[in-house]
Amino acid sequence: VVETGTPDRAVVTTCAYCGVGCTFRAEMRGEELVRMVPWKDGKANRGHSCVKGRFAWGYAQHQDRILNPMIRASVTEPWREVSWDEAIAYTANEFRRIQAQYGRLSVGGITSSRCTNEETFLVQKMIRQGFGNNNVDTCARVCHSPTGYGLKTTFGTSAGTQDFDSVMHADVILVIGANPTDAHPVFGSRMKKRLRQGAKLIVIDPRQIDLVKSPHVEAEHHLPLRPGTNVALLTAMAHVVVTEKLYDEAFIRERCDWDEFQDWADFVSEAARSPEAIEPLTGVRPADVRAAARLYATGGNAAIYYGLGVTEHSQGSSTVMAIANLAMATGNIGREGVGVNPLRGQNNVQGACDMGSFPHEFSGYRHVSDDGARAMFESAWGVKLDHEPGLRIPNMLDAATDGTFKGLFIQGEDILQSDPNTRHVAAGLAAMECVVVQDLFLNETANYAHVFLPGSTFLEKDGTFTNAERRIQRVRKVMAPLNGHADWEIVQLVANALGLGWDYAHPSEIMDEIAALTPTFTGVHYDRLDAEGSLQWPANDAAPDGTPTMHIDGFVRGKGKFVVTDYVPTDEKTGPRFPLLLTTGRILSHYNVGAQTRRTANTAWHPEDRLEIHPNDAENRGVKEGDWVSLRSRAGETTLRALITERVAPGVVYTTFHHPDTQANVITTDYSDWATNCPEYKVTAVQVGLSNGP
Ligand code: SF4
Repeated sequence: VVETGTPDRAVVTTCAYCGVGCTFRAEMRGEELVRMVPWKDGKANRGHSCVKGRFAWGYAQHQDRILNPMIRASVTEPWREVSWDEAIAYTANEFRRIQAQYGRLSVGGITSSRCTNEETFLVQKMIRQGFGNNNVDTCARVCHSPTGYGLKTTFGTSAGTQDFDSVMHADVILVIGANPTDAHPVFGSRMKKRLRQGAKLIVIDPRQIDLVKSPHVEAEHHLPLRPGTNVALLTAMAHVVVTEKLYDEAFIRERCDWDEFQDWADFVSEAARSPEAIEPLTGVRPADVRAAARLYATGGNAAIYYGLGVTEHSQGSSTVMAIANLAMATGNIGREGVGVNPLRGQNNVQGACDMGSFPHEFSGYRHVSDDGARAMFESAWGVKLDHEPGLRIPNMLDAATDGTFKGLFIQGEDILQSDPNTRHVAAGLAAMECVVVQDLFLNETANYAHVFLPGSTFLEKDGTFTNAERRIQRVRKVMAPLNGHADWEIVQLVANALGLGWDYAHPSEIMDEIAALTPTFTGVHYDRLDAEGSLQWPANDAAPDGTPTMHIDGFVRGKGKFVVTDYVPTDEKTGPRFPLLLTTGRILSHYNVGAQTRRTANTAWHPEDRLEIHPNDAENRGVKEGDWVSLRSRAGETTLRALITERVAPGVVYTTFHHPDTQANVITTDYSDWATNCPEYKVTAVQVGLSNGP
């Protein structure tokens, strides 16, 4: 922990790690950051923080930062440091050459959920206005794209329904596929506070997360389901709600389509979907499913919080809709203490999605085929826009290996580490003629890059992040960019080299354009954010003070939509060669692939990823605590040390993925969500055996 010296100034800004969005005072002495102090007036954190936001900012001034642009004609050549002018001109020339040679659709880009709203808005604008296509995607593809699909389909908008304070009004808290005390610690603490006050807890998770049993908190029901069976279990809970007539008929008749409810009710009430019938699939005792369903439906205000254990499945979108069905059926939507709440992983994944980072949507989730929305952007940007959705990240990689996609601009994402089936990602990148990586460090993806544009940290720029409760908060520059340019300036340089003629002098001007073009943001301006601290969208004429709770008087789409979600087993099967199921998650001290936290003192708290394995499975393989084991799947193999624990059930193993040596995504498969292509990270059939180490 580095906390030295006496500060001479302080700047209030927002944490760049998780979707809680804690506010801090960055205390500075000259250009040196002395410490980060959680800010008491921060509306998301109210003076609290975790060990990441508080202590893990050392990466910003780490010696591994790349500060000068670099180019190379081929990835077999060494990098050559060049001026910003040369790097920008080379980038623009290459994209124009590729489009002239291979066509308009042969290039695209990826926005970063680590960057600000303004920066992601500019990347998608550059692609739509400058490349003339919709080939833009974002890391939400591999995390919360099913949330976007599922909540938009059922409720009409792709966002959580509540603010964090709402949890203090919940009588029943259902946590499914999330581990808030590790992955969203400050919100996890608030949840525990409510539980200590007497709220009841239901946890649906293959693993015994801390919330299941920790000092002063114990779950009423833990349903340790077999990975990949979320839809079957949620449907069985719905079966209980419907067959025992625990649903809220008045709410459904007033707020939802009654005929659709009846179709759904007929479906879930079939005997094949009872808790008893699905026990062989889920492994969960029917009595526990029935008790949990009764508690959720009748225990008062019931709120659902979920994470990537819901979305990163072949039925991720179906699971989100099954959750929404349950909430609507029991009337747990549209007031404090209830709702459906995705816990967003990255600091600005909500914002990146809001800003039009998907290949089918402009900012504010309007489809590119919507003539009115397109006309608005065409008028503002002075170009004709494509009405066809563009390529998703996996489609870009497929098209690259097919020879039709040749140029990719990647802002702040290490897709070689973070996306599934590493070999396929590598093959796609290797087949491209121009890969541009804009990042802080020479990440794994940069091994396949032709241009490296050094990025800036959250401490070096102005902008906004939007957290998991739709709260838009200011990011404020506390020091000059070490690389000479904030990320938004770099995108503007590339755009202008492409001939787009942008002249933003400050990110506030980008936000003014976002507000002018995005109906849910029309009331969002920097002067208001500075005066009020934050705003939760929608913030517009209909909701001048912003919107802490959504769908109060009606759903955004009008009537809430019940969707029949039939359980379809994943194609990833266990068998004699691969008898165990691997699932993955995070630990408190680290963040995602660890590019930042591994370059801080936090590494001392968790120096390596370990494989959690049940004592029975370990004994059967002769594995003892701390032994090196090989972890093999149909896709690949890696090696790590064993941690023997009853947190996982027999037949299930678990690891974190914060260290590149673990190479968890060498193991994961190509299977993905049927609606969004979100990878099925949470279910991989594996075998574990003793190993001599890496
Ligand atoms: Fe940062 Fe999230 Fe920790 Fe808050 S809870 S300090 S936003 S990592």
